[in-house]
Amino acid sequence: MKEYYTLVVFHEREVEKMLSKLNLAEKVEKGEIKCAICGKTITKENLGAILRKNGNILIICDSVKCIEKAGGLISAF
Ligand SMILES: [Zn+2]
Repeated sequence: MKEYYTLVVFHEREVEKMLSKLNLAEKVEKGEIKCAICGKTITKENLGAILRKNGNILIICDSVKCIEKAGGLISAF
């Protein structure tokens, strides 16, 4: 089955809104979310992108390398 990826990069002020919509705000506050690429703990300050892979949500930090890798993940499909 084909996998679908959606990459969404947010403006800072939209991050909080989106995080609470996804019920992730509390987890980010507690430092429970890690970058799906490099494993760095995600905060509101370093959140770069939210990647949706089918039903799963992957959070990517704001490192250029991670964003690039996430982009590669998408163009691969
Ligand atoms: Zn990262």
